[in-house]
Amino acid sequence: MMYIARQRLSFPALHQSTGGAGSTHGHNYTLTAELAGPVRPDGVIVDYAAVSERLAELRPREVGANTIEALWAAWQPGWAAGVSAHGLTIVDGGGRGGLRHPGGSLFVHSGGFSAAHRTHAPRLSDAENRTLYGICDNPAGHGHNYRVTVWHPTLAALPPDLWAEFDHRNLSVDLPDLRGRNVVTEAIAELIARRVPGAERLRVWETDVFFAEYAPASGAYTLGRRYTFSAAHGFETPAGGAAVYGPCAAAARHGHDFTLAVAVTAPALDPLTETACDLGRVDRAAAHVLADLQEADLDGGVRWLSGGPATPERLAKRIGERLAAELGEALSQVGVWAWPDHEAWQLRGEDGQR
Ligand SMILES: [Zn+2]
Ligand SMILES: [Zn+2]
Ligand SMILES: [Zn+2]
Repeated sequence: MMYIARQRLSFPALHQSTGGAGSTHGHNYTLTAELAGPVRPDGVIVDYAAVSERLAELRPREVGANTIEALWAAWQPGWAAGVSAHGLTIVDGGGRGGLRHPGGSLFVHSGGFSAAHRTHAPRLSDAENRTLYGICDNPAGHGHNYRVTVWHPTLAALPPDLWAEFDHRNLSVDLPDLRGRNVVTEAIAELIARRVPGAERLRVWETDVFFAEYAPASGAYTLGRRYTFSAAHGFETPAGGAAVYGPCAAAARHGHDFTLAVAVTAPALDPLTETACDLGRVDRAAAHVLADLQEADLDGGVRWLSGGPATPERLAKRIGERLAAELGEALSQVGVWAWPDHEAWQLRGEDGQR
């Protein structure tokens, strides 16, 4: 079990591109920093202000090929005992950039396409398909604006015509590689992996609240869901509370539209359904937790949250424990955030990946 605090800083900077006809230009960058460590009794892994200050110090005026390595060297040292740098990502407004983590570095590539598909498992009966997939089983198909992130060890990883194969196609009909398959997001991620040899991970967002990820080396699939709940919380903050809790401390009692992120991982696809996991099962487990959290007072109103402040870190920990009771070993990640620039994660997988 690993606990991660993730904070973001957005800033404009110059960019010197390497190769091609590039000259000095600029982007809106997002720097995402991650720290791993135990959740302290006051409900956080690390003081919010300590991370904000370090991120402000890291902020580069100019981004180039070696920026991520320089930032990583500056980010690693100086944290409290038991707290360690878990990752650093810098991407431009188009989602291109780099990721540095303790095991090495990867380029981050982004793209996407609009396409139709039909969710229909050929090995199941029509009645079973209707029960499982409902309106997504419409024989005429339906569509999504798919967004894709590829983590790859090389800069020029994506073939220039990669998305043309998928864009404005009916994936269930037009693509020979997917014909006769259940064209779920898992199948699309695996096909893109075949087109981008050497990728470490590929994540395909079907919607804002669902992605499928494929790791070619292990063959494992991860499915991620996003849920929201509206709730109140506040912190009994002694002097220095704002440094610990950031914007949540300044507002005394208040509330948020919280986001709950849940991911499950499977070593392979189910041969019958061709899916990595029954999403209905994930949604039902989440619904049981959300029933307690929706429109709740998180301080005192939820029995299983007692014993400490309702920080995203403690929420991720306690929600993770409850979801694991239903989803077992398949549960791999639980994330909670009240603000998009500060996320807390419980990672249950061996490698602690997001
Ligand atoms: Zn650029
Ligand atoms: Zn669909
Ligand atoms: Zn708050």
